[in-house]
Amino acid sequence: MPRDPRYDILFEPVQIGPVTARNRFFQVPHCNGMGHQMPAAHAAMREAKAEGGWAVVSTEECEIHPSGDVTPYVEARLWDDADIPALAMMCDRVHAHGSLAAVELTHNGPTSSNLYSREVALAPSHQPLKYGYPHQARAMTKHDIREYRRWHREAAVRGRTAGFDLIYVYAGHDLSLAMHFLQRRRNHRTDEYGGSLENRVRLFREIIEDTKEAVGDTCGVVVRFAVEELLGDEGVTVAEAKEVVHMLAELPDLWDVNVAAWYNDSIPSRFAKEGAQEPFTHWVKQYTTKPVVGVGRFTNPDTMVDQIRRGVLDMIGAARPSIADPFLPKKIEEGRLDDIRECIGCNICVTGDMTITPIRCTQNPSMGEEWRKGWHPEHIASKRSDSRILVVGAGPAGLEAARALGQRGYEVHLCEASRELGGRVLKEARLPGLAEWMRVRDWRVTQIEKLPSVTVYPESPIAAQDVLDFGADQVVLATGCSWRRDGYGRSNGSVIAGFDAQILTPDDLMDGNVPTGHVVLFDDDAFYLGSSMAELIVARGGTVTIVTPDDTVASWSTNTLDFRHIQKRLYALGVKQVTSHNITSAGAGSISLEHVWSGARSELACDAVVSVTARMPNDALFGELEARQSEWVGAGVKTVQCIGDALAPGLIAHAVYAGHRYAQLLDGGAVKDVPFRRHLPVAQVV
Ligand code: ADP
Ligand code: SF4
Repeated sequence: MPRDPRYDILFEPVQIGPVTARNRFFQVPHCNGMGHQMPAAHAAMREAKAEGGWAVVSTEECEIHPSGDVTPYVEARLWDDADIPALAMMCDRVHAHGSLAAVELTHNGPTSSNLYSREVALAPSHQPLKYGYPHQARAMTKHDIREYRRWHREAAVRGRTAGFDLIYVYAGHDLSLAMHFLQRRRNHRTDEYGGSLENRVRLFREIIEDTKEAVGDTCGVVVRFAVEELLGDEGVTVAEAKEVVHMLAELPDLWDVNVAAWYNDSIPSRFAKEGAQEPFTHWVKQYTTKPVVGVGRFTNPDTMVDQIRRGVLDMIGAARPSIADPFLPKKIEEGRLDDIRECIGCNICVTGDMTITPIRCTQNPSMGEEWRKGWHPEHIASKRSDSRILVVGAGPAGLEAARALGQRGYEVHLCEASRELGGRVLKEARLPGLAEWMRVRDWRVTQIEKLPSVTVYPESPIAAQDVLDFGADQVVLATGCSWRRDGYGRSNGSVIAGFDAQILTPDDLMDGNVPTGHVVLFDDDAFYLGSSMAELIVARGGTVTIVTPDDTVASWSTNTLDFRHIQKRLYALGVKQVTSHNITSAGAGSISLEHVWSGARSELACDAVVSVTARMPNDALFGELEARQSEWVGAGVKTVQCIGDALAPGLIAHAVYAGHRYAQLLDGGAVKDVPFRRHLPVAQVV
């Protein structure tokens, strides 16, 4: 289908200094947990974006010197010439598809911990390191500032040698010296680099000038600038940012602007919707004639056009939308809007960086697997047999298995007990703020409807005899899981006394049984669901006390940048938090608590108890079929496999991945013990 002319504006070229972007789609820097340690995997991931139509594809942060070493986090690196080949690999891949490659140079100052280099960290003034490592950064001398400028200039030249077309000067996310000098809370200097805004902006100006002088004849010199930190006068504010942009307006070749820190920039969809940064960035274009890029988890082409037509942005910046769908621009260009796999704003992609592992994505199971497994976001090998496949359960695992198997051309029969497809997604997306999660279901259902070889049977609960009667060659059981009622979980190796029929689980609440009065919610899960349940109860008029054996509620949600937003919401809703307490028993009208550190005991009155601890796979059907394995051959069944939550309960991302993996591996022969390529340390030393 040809592209709709109303989107033509998105495909206009944009001049960025001496280079030209072929359209307005700009993959802004994003971390990925692979960085300098897995260059081939990193290059293949970026290549997918270029192939998918992003005119600019950027690295993540790129360290310029060992004194700005962000270990244990794995980002890009250009400390010296030895680091050039790894990034050249990315540039070649990006150029092969006609896109520009950008590198985001940075020195993290007091927001690096230098755990690998053991250098003393640098900062505008003496201060503790940001990420809790018990060491301080020292105040930079004039000599240090000169050295820092030299490192930045030399890294820019190395970037050009690697093949980058755009060199970033980074003053964003509270992760760069250029920004740290701007911040009153970090800069207490009394020389020409401290005090007045003009002084605090001096270093930022100098490194833009240095970079232009070093590479500006052939590379675009672009800035990433955080215009608001939401910290009041302690941080950069829009009022001050306006002055900064006014002062530097025409100096860089492009302004990439956003809100800091990362948790305010990549806000989960539970707390901010598409285009949420516009109130902070809409003014930038009035202060400069240079192109302006901004982000806002844009997935809707109409919103993108609107941003450009209203003069908010010149280029559509995206990290998460490009992760969920590397082919987003191409799909708009080809008029295939309903094929766009929209980001759901769950931030599982962020957890790769946080846990120092390759990036993953709930919506796009190929993300991070392009090189090591050879998975492509759009293409998959055609079928290798005429196997008929029965998929039982249409949650994220079953839907993705059926979709990807159908894409391969297999004859697939997808049976779902309920009237509506979607499984857990259907239920969780109805929780407060999580509506966008429905995109996991919607995209797959839309795709399945286009696949002639997939037949869907809603309202079709399947029993073991049905499976044998159906006689498919391969049987996939994606029958999900159920929350436990007995209190067993991370903190309790046996059931909690009184945790029986009177206790409610998330399944009960999502099925409409929401308790009233004062509810104790026992959260031993530590992620999003406990606080989501609390929000639901409060929305229905109840009051909630969350009890957790952890020292904080929702501790794992730091990995998805949810944590502080969850905390703020819980406080706003009046939800009480009793941390470091386990529940020893539940009785009529009260529960007994034990402090995990002191052992002190107490009672808490309540009208109802909700338990969010652990889940059990719904694998009864699998068990029955296993018990009747002798009948498989007669029925024509070759294999029966449990996948997703029915195998081991996890995230929606795990379920999608499991469904996709099943489809990828079918008829692929024996799976190796190590089923993916690896980067191995080699004996090359510098
Ligand atoms: P996952 O996350 O692994 O995809 P879900 O719990 O989201 O698991 O989805 C499981 C789906 O399987 C649910 O929609 C459920 O109704 C369906 N289901 C479970 N058992 C059967 C069965 N025996 N026959 C048909 N559908 C089933
Ligand atoms: Fe979007 Fe979630 Fe994928 Fe990240 S993991 S890109 S937030 S769908």
